[in-house]
Amino acid sequence: MMVNCPDCKKALIEFDLGSGNYHCSNPSCNFQYLELMTGKQHRKNVKTEEMESAPLSNSLDKKPKRILVGLAIESTLLNMGHSIFDKVTTKLKEDYNANVFDCLENPQYLKKILERNFDKNVHEVVAKSIKTVLGEFAYYSSIREFLDELNSKK
Ligand SMILES: [Zn+2]
Repeated sequence: MMVNCPDCKKALIEFDLGSGNYHCSNPSCNFQYLELMTGKQHRKNVKTEEMESAPLSNSLDKKPKRILVGLAIESTLLNMGHSIFDKVTTKLKEDYNANVFDCLENPQYLKKILERNFDKNVHEVVAKSIKTVLGEFAYYSSIREFLDELNSKK
């Protein structure tokens, strides 16, 4: 018999014939298996903390991207010198009660701090360098938007 996945609509497969457990073969699908006898549906664990706030597809990958962007900022600033790193991280804390990991959602924090506290060259080098580090991840729209905002002239 044919049973389709309730989530992704692909055909479910009975791995152990006769078990009555039908698995979804789609690796990106959250549905695990269906017990045909009882109708019980099993899904992969999803962190409830992340389910509450935003739509699933969006929230699941937000955290690693925040870390990615934060680390890119950190390494760029450290490369430019400890005094620059210290000043930016201190200002993030003082002015916005934030850290580098909040910059994905708030690129203007970093931008404003660079504008206010450093000359134009430093600002440009930082923005460019972060863009280089994150360039290969720019196919993620959230990272692309962050880079666009950081590099925008307005
Ligand atoms: Zn599925």
